[in-house]
Amino acid sequence: MVLQKPREIAVRILTRHAGSTAFIEDLVDRESAGARLNPPDRALVQELCYGCVRWRATLDWLIERRTREAPSPTLRAVLHVGLYQLFWLDRIPDHAAVHATVEVARTFDLGAQTGFVNALLRNYLRDADATRAELTQLKTTDPAVGWSHPKWLLQRWSSQRSAEQVQAFLAWNNSPATVFARVNTLKADPAKLIAAWRDEGVDYAFARFDWTAENLVFQLRRHPPLTKLKSFADGWFYIQDPSTLMAVALLDPQPGEEILDFCAAPGGKATFIAQRLDNDGVVIASEPDPRRRQRLQENCHRLAADVTVVAPDDPRAEGPFDAVLLDAPCSNTGVLRRRIDARWRLTPDELNHCKTQQLQLFAEALRQLRPGGRIVYSTCSVEPEENELCLQTILANHPGTSIEATRQLHPVDDKVDGAFAARIRLAEKPKRGATSAPARA
Ligand code: SAM
Repeated sequence: MVLQKPREIAVRILTRHAGSTAFIEDLVDRESAGARLNPPDRALVQELCYGCVRWRATLDWLIERRTREAPSPTLRAVLHVGLYQLFWLDRIPDHAAVHATVEVARTFDLGAQTGFVNALLRNYLRDADATRAELTQLKTTDPAVGWSHPKWLLQRWSSQRSAEQVQAFLAWNNSPATVFARVNTLKADPAKLIAAWRDEGVDYAFARFDWTAENLVFQLRRHPPLTKLKSFADGWFYIQDPSTLMAVALLDPQPGEEILDFCAAPGGKATFIAQRLDNDGVVIASEPDPRRRQRLQENCHRLAADVTVVAPDDPRAEGPFDAVLLDAPCSNTGVLRRRIDARWRLTPDELNHCKTQQLQLFAEALRQLRPGGRIVYSTCSVEPEENELCLQTILANHPGTSIEATRQLHPVDDKVDGAFAARIRLAEKPKRGATSAPARA
């Protein structure tokens, strides 16, 4: 079998990504699935694609210093792949990276521009030490370019936090995401899972947070492809950041309760609710997107979580429920290290749209709650407009609701993904203006 070339595949994916609305993660998965690649080359395709999208603004800055002409999407992708190897990857020798990238330029029939690729990369190779120093300096002199983030996001965060905290946040967003697993006690216990992982070559460490139980979460340090493991197929664990468990901790599901998860796919929280109930209760997981609903269904099945997956117009999603979880679609600014291209998709208008949608979804979700019941509103955003400020509007819009607890997790403060959750109680008999002061989770 003749293997394919990882850099060529990466350039193809990056070119396609530049001209489409598809997520880079989906393009990498789709293209790699059909490609003839050995495991290290498969990993290199992912590294090149994720790295080039993450560091896009800095890579463009490097290109713009050497040419006034805007490169075509393919030429830009070739240059990104070449420069990323030179300045971000240490395991590929510089000359090999340049040589392989120029070869790729040839396969894409870039004509005379192949010479330009060669000249630009060799030029940078000669100035490598000086350029590395400039790139380091750029992180403080022009952080939006140096850390490759949109300027407007940087300005927002700079008005909320100190310069050191903002730098730490930018660095976090560009670092590889830690992999965490939650043991699924519906199918295994921690001892059984650890024994299986030992045989399967999974290197783990226990991870404890003040909102998670002991022996529930593991940090995976080294592991084979997880979906290929028997322990994965058998549903003994679920991959999710510990921050996502905080909303369920606030919801505090009780045996026998009827609970609605209003925005449920892919099911990290719905399956954890079922786990907390030990499947003793009713969990209805509603999701409008049919493909995401399918994934939610598969996850519930794999984990043996007793969850009924429905579309929002299904009569089973109608209350009254004892508790509702509204894990709302949001800007994702707390999870930018995992959502590789989210920073480039987000705009101030989109942020406003998120807030409008969140308020609307809250009104819909609240209708399914019984009087005296509780609703947890959560996001994976660190923007006040989607969190505390949204909550203020919620309280004003819905007399009879009161806040029982709120919590914001931030990567800089908590060393996990950003997440917000608030538990809101609906009065037994709603009265106008009945609100109370929030407590910490
Ligand atoms: N709770 C999920 C978990 O823990 O795995 C993650 C939910 S994700 C933050 C938000 C979900 O809301 C997405 O699956 C999205 O398809 C869904 N969604 C989008 N628009 C919606 C709407 N208008 N009503 C309900 N859900 C919506």
